[in-house]
Amino acid sequence: MTWLEPLRSSVPELDTPAWTSLERFDAALGELSSAAPAHHDAAAWSAWLLQLRHELAARRHRAPTGPAGPVWQTLAQFLAGARDLDLRDCTGAGHGAMVLTHAPTAIARAWDERLRAGELIGIAATERHGGSRIREITTRARPGRGGTWRLTGEKCWVSRLTEAAAFVVFVRDPDARISAVLVDADDPRAERDVIEPFGLGGWSWGALRLHDLPVDPATALLGAPGNGLEIFHQHFARFRPLVTATALGTAAGVHALVADALAARRSTGILPRVRDNALIALGRTHAEITAALLATVTTTRLAMIGHPAADLLARLGKAAGVDTAVQAVNNLAPLIGAAGFQRSHPVAKARADLTGLLYADGIHDSLYRSGGVSLLAGPANSRLATLTAAA
Ligand SMILES: Cc1cc2nc3c(=O)[nH]c(=O)nc-3n(C[C@H](O)[C@H](O)[C@H](O)COP(=O)(O)OP(=O)(O)OC[C@H]3O[C@@H](n4cnc5c(N)ncnc54)[C@H](O)[C@@H]3O)c2cc1C
Repeated sequence: MTWLEPLRSSVPELDTPAWTSLERFDAALGELSSAAPAHHDAAAWSAWLLQLRHELAARRHRAPTGPAGPVWQTLAQFLAGARDLDLRDCTGAGHGAMVLTHAPTAIARAWDERLRAGELIGIAATERHGGSRIREITTRARPGRGGTWRLTGEKCWVSRLTEAAAFVVFVRDPDARISAVLVDADDPRAERDVIEPFGLGGWSWGALRLHDLPVDPATALLGAPGNGLEIFHQHFARFRPLVTATALGTAAGVHALVADALAARRSTGILPRVRDNALIALGRTHAEITAALLATVTTTRLAMIGHPAADLLARLGKAAGVDTAVQAVNNLAPLIGAAGFQRSHPVAKARADLTGLLYADGIHDSLYRSGGVSLLAGPANSRLATLTAAA
């Protein structure tokens, strides 16, 4: 909370009870994290992360209702990221938000309960030809008996592969339009193939193959047929600020570790004084992380009210915010020397994990490029008023 306290006047939506609940959330994270297993035991670490999500849900650590909610969640994810980037799903519905918003009412209601209890929903959009080309997806839904759809295709680089209870899968529907359908993770016709990642390995990751898997569009289809891209963009306008805040939290966590290490070395006399290069790096990265976090909160607000610029700012903000976090950690890490290069060190883990976010939830050159396309759309004198998702 040390990092957030000075920013309190920038989040007037959070009244005293909301701020107190954020402090309680942070305290609970601290308490529960003390029992975390070592992260290099991938199975134990993943099980603990899922258990953490359930435990936080059971203790009712959740965003307040109303306009304070999304802002609270953005700051909560910053606090979670400061402990570990793998805590990227410890608040809210995550990708399950697509189900809550677009599934038929009875399905959405049932999932609301399950997600509130801590269950997880994954997203399966990326295919071998390239995740940055979602319009070209090939996973097919062909008509089956009695109005069912049968899904066939392969999704790759899917996160939450074994932890998710279901996936929102983007498919080409029987009319060749892109639609979003909910698929049960335990369906015997869904094959999951886990791959070892370089970082961000908290949730398992890999390929999801659908082998003529039957779904009933009356219950599994999200929104109307052909609404897939709209659902994708609307969801990521809200989800990307959460990712960005988590990444910035991770950079803030590294900042705190490095500052504490330097202060300890100075007070014990190991360092007679802290050199200017270290002081400058501490000051500059603090300012950069703070500025990016405030921009992220603004994007959260715009997404909440459905502002036309929200999608653009979420795309650019995710790329720029994660880049800020990566650069900050790269600048800070050498200040504590090779100790921070040990695989088991939190700084080394933060560096590897942040690398994963250069791809996950949108690869950066593609996000910047699509932002450029949006910025050039519309007549020159009214560009700001006509910002829409053009990518
Ligand atoms: C840790 C992690 C978690 C992930 N989780 C998920 C998940 O849960 N669900 C999911 O669906 N996906 C997930 N992904 C995949 C992620 O969304 C994709 O990596 C991302 O969308 C980019 O797709 P790609 O990797 O296929 O790269 P590509 O789309 O192939 O892009 C690679 C490069 O090619 C460039 N490129 C594209 N078109 C052209 C062109 N015409 N000419 C020249 N260059 C071009 C791109 O700009 C980019 O630089 C995850 C990835 C990671 C690393």
